[in-house]
Amino acid sequence: MTSWPWETIIEPFKIKSVEPLGFTTREEREDALRAAGFNVFHVRADKVLIDLLTDSGTSAMSAEQWAAIMRGDESYAGARSFYVFEKAVKDLTGMREVIPVHQGRAAERILFSFLGGAGKTVLANAHFDTTRANIEVSGAQAVDLPVPEAWDFENPSPFKGDIDLRRLESAIQEYGAKNIPLVILTVTNNSLGGQPVSMRNIRDTAKICLQYRIPLFLDCARFAENAYLIKNREAVYAKKPVREIAQEMFSYAQGCMMSAKKDALVNIGGFLALNDLDWAKQARQELILGEGFPTYGGLAGRDLEAMARGLEEVLDEEYLHYRIRSVEYLGDGLMEAGVPIIRPTGGHGVYVDAKRFLSHIPPEQYPGQALVCELYLAGGIRAVEIGSLMFGRRVNGRFEPAKMELVRLAMPRRVYTQSHIDFVIEVFRDLAQRKDSIRGLRLVEGFEHLNHFMAKLAPLSTA
Ligand SMILES: *Cc1c(COP(=O)(O)O)cnc(C)c1O
Repeated sequence: MTSWPWETIIEPFKIKSVEPLGFTTREEREDALRAAGFNVFHVRADKVLIDLLTDSGTSAMSAEQWAAIMRGDESYAGARSFYVFEKAVKDLTGMREVIPVHQGRAAERILFSFLGGAGKTVLANAHFDTTRANIEVSGAQAVDLPVPEAWDFENPSPFKGDIDLRRLESAIQEYGAKNIPLVILTVTNNSLGGQPVSMRNIRDTAKICLQYRIPLFLDCARFAENAYLIKNREAVYAKKPVREIAQEMFSYAQGCMMSAKKDALVNIGGFLALNDLDWAKQARQELILGEGFPTYGGLAGRDLEAMARGLEEVLDEEYLHYRIRSVEYLGDGLMEAGVPIIRPTGGHGVYVDAKRFLSHIPPEQYPGQALVCELYLAGGIRAVEIGSLMFGRRVNGRFEPAKMELVRLAMPRRVYTQSHIDFVIEVFRDLAQRKDSIRGLRLVEGFEHLNHFMAKLAPLSTA
């Protein structure tokens, strides 16, 4: 916010419609967690008090978005709402072809249905879990190349979402450019702390990709948060409007896929946008098979209207200032309570380092998930594990842990106020005092892909 001289950052909205929170007793939460197989994805939302499971599809829409919903044109083909949406995406991304899909992973599945396959390798700063799964299901492999400081959670470097350019070049040599259909930059990098990618890194990645004739795509679920963090942290962009920063980010890419459930401030939606006509043709073919006709792509006309409006609102700098500051506020509170987090805080949430916080629980007993369960039991707070439950594997019967054991506290957009966050911090203060008594878990039922959504666990009887 350029002209706000006060120290207190306020929510830049007032509330028109409210929804009650799910207050429960400790006993009710114990029952709910047991019934859910110690996997909070299976807890009913009305038994959750503060829901920080995800920032995906959980945004509060604005009065203007609700008004746009009423304007939705529900024609099967050629709906006016499609052209409103297409214009919003083209103005932002500069891409020639715009394909709506019902959510981000549909864009991934469509893209890798013809770009994936055995022998192919996709390179990225880090693949989001559904991106990785869609690549692997196609028979291709997904390789993450984050900068080394991304793994140093204490290191307050401003752009820990960057791809490692040296490793990118050597990976291209190793796998061969002709076997690499795409390089992806996930902005911000969701899997490793919501950390932003710098403009310099996007530009340098594009240069390398151009040299080897590999298309660069942005996985742009949080493009606005990334653009705002560039403005804050990359000096030459300090005075540039965030919208122009976002447009510049897209200008280096040949395509992008977006989960609109994040930075388009809607509850459902997504798109694939790209320049290559032949790829667009193949994508539309696949779209019709699984999603619908190219002017609605698995959505209602009204959803396209709400997305178009959300893509505008998310670039409001007052909104972004509040958004990034409220995440930082939670991070500051947790650090004061002695809870180790990934520093600096990034775009959409705070990531607790459960490996350090619960150092008495080994990875095979899922320290991240143990913390998730304890947060729910103590305060009705729902979070998500990003650790061995999500990424751990069994190879020939042997457990291979993930590289990190994180718990993400994702912030829904425009949903909670400061007192909700103060409450979360208070619950963490309580947990920090008795953390040594928190026990690990064992896996009762696992799944090969996207294990964390469906897995069932049980508490270990003694510490
Ligand atoms: C959420 C997300 C996706 C997948 O999108 P869905 O809308 O959940 O299908 C892909 N990439 C990133 C970076 C995401 O955050």
